Amino acid sequence: MIRKNIDVMNKVDEILNEELEEKANETKKPVEEPKIIPHKKYTSPVMVYALGGLGEVGKNTYCVENDNDLIIIDAGVRFPEDELVGVDYVIPSYKHLKDVNQKIRALFITHGHEDHIGAVPFLIKSVNVPVIYAPKLACALIRQKILDQKIKTSVKLVEYNDTSVVTAGSFKVSFFRVTHSIPDSYGICIDTTEGRIVTTGDFKIDLTPVGPDIELHRISTMGEEGVDLLLADSTNAEKEGWTPSEKNVLNAINDIFDRAHGRLIISTFSSNVSRIQQILDCALKHDRKCIIVGRSMVTAVDCARKFGYIRFPDSYFKDVSDLKTLKDSEILILCTGSQGEAMAALNRIANGTFKGISVSFGDTVVFSSSPIPGNGASIAKVVNQLTRMGANVITNQIIKDIHSSGHPSRLELKMNLKLFKPKYFMPAHGEYHMLKLHGDIAKELGMPDDHVFILANGDTLILKDHKVTQGERLQAEDVYIDGYDINGVSTAVIRDRKILHDDGMVSVLVLLDSKNSRLISPPRVNTVGFVSYGKYENHLTRHAATMVEEGLNELFNSKHVTFNDIKNTVRSIVSKYYFRKTQRNPMIIPLVLDKRENLPAARKK
Ligand SMILES: [Zn+2]
Ligand SMILES: [Zn+2]
Repeated sequence: MIRKNIDVMNKVDEILNEELEEKANETKKPVEEPKIIPHKKYTSPVMVYALGGLGEVGKNTYCVENDNDLIIIDAGVRFPEDELVGVDYVIPSYKHLKDVNQKIRALFITHGHEDHIGAVPFLIKSVNVPVIYAPKLACALIRQKILDQKIKTSVKLVEYNDTSVVTAGSFKVSFFRVTHSIPDSYGICIDTTEGRIVTTGDFKIDLTPVGPDIELHRISTMGEEGVDLLLADSTNAEKEGWTPSEKNVLNAINDIFDRAHGRLIISTFSSNVSRIQQILDCALKHDRKCIIVGRSMVTAVDCARKFGYIRFPDSYFKDVSDLKTLKDSEILILCTGSQGEAMAALNRIANGTFKGISVSFGDTVVFSSSPIPGNGASIAKVVNQLTRMGANVITNQIIKDIHSSGHPSRLELKMNLKLFKPKYFMPAHGEYHMLKLHGDIAKELGMPDDHVFILANGDTLILKDHKVTQGERLQAEDVYIDGYDINGVSTAVIRDRKILHDDGMVSVLVLLDSKNSRLISPPRVNTVGFVSYGKYENHLTRHAATMVEEGLNELFNSKHVTFNDIKNTVRSIVSKYYFRKTQRNPMIIPLVLDKRENLPAARKK
């Protein structure tokens, strides 16, 4: 297997032309040195908290704040769960940051994944961030976001690397390289007057990485010097052992290339640049040309190629229109949609709506990813559809090694804690049970119970003179984003959409003669998007109408009846009735119309 790896790499190096070397040289230009903001020695307790990232995998936003200065680490989005109908992203509430805006010195980005950079446009529209420090690839991705969304901003984007040291207000910030599923991933060390805080960012300890090594020697030096508070990635805290190296995936993918005779379609996360490189290495070895489809995949590959993170000869990149002239055995289609997302390329290919690409007998389709919890059903749908069309579909349930996580398993978490030797520990980046298990690991290694903090977004820790205690809670609820609108969609709108989506709607038309307190005609009940009960449905609507009529006649017997009373009575009768009969809670919409001649009087009421 190792031999195979070497063969693949040799072949890549042979075929890469001079043009590529030039590109690589371009990327060796020295990075712009981060500007040093004058260091102010300012002594006050330091508050550490997350506005997003705790109790969830997504919208990572961690803050370090004292009386004078505030720095933000990462600004991510979370992709909405299915029940958030019509929501594109979930971001944290920036209410607290708006309140203390004048203290914000900088935003630091650990790496270019969406759960760490996706909310940058929303953050810089909400508050004034003077400068963003990010590694090279993340910088490029952020710049693209700002361009795509046509944001006018004065924010400075500055690249950092493993030798950079930035002074942001009273905080001294440095960076150490880690291994993860995207190149240029870093952990961040923040020295404050009260003690040292370190966050690992997303990482795994990959001893044979695709790309540079994790700087274990620097981690151990930081540990020797003393880390007061450590925040670390908890995503895989349930997984025993050690996360397999990304290099293992190469062998599995290479085997698939060996066996595939027809076209090969591989979908993976567009952000997984290391994986994309491995797939392209195999394509080159097997002389397959690559067609990239799916908007986010095209953007990610373009960005990564521009900065030398993806090496593949230009002549091997082809367009969809070239498919006709290529033999099936010469084709690799690299696409988005490994999570079964409705609008992604793979799903559109599967349901025949992707212009120029359809699947047929003999094609091999590979899902080089593992399902994010909750996406299983959508993926199964796409897998079934592709299989029906004659494709040989390979998921990581069939061949385990076609995906490897970018996050550390339990042994790596133990090693991480052993090297950093933190005094206090705050598990980060994970759902509650992941944080809890990660906390238990620290206790198992001998950390006292009251030195481990399992927190929620908005909870604060106070670091003072190398001691950590828990502080007051800040506001940190979810904000739902529909499109690019920064104001978010209110919770009430989401609730309504959810009811309409799940249970449909029942409208009740009431024609009223308010002057004489009587109904002009029997109420009419209609259902929309409501579960169909066939003939029984007519029975339900008729019965509901009769009950409304009886209820309203009874209501008219009392003295002062307002329009609201009528609406509330209708809602109460109809919702109770429908719940009893169907166990559903449709949205009830009463439409109350008064007799024309009563209108002015009715308004006065
Ligand atoms: Zn990540
Ligand atoms: Zn992440």
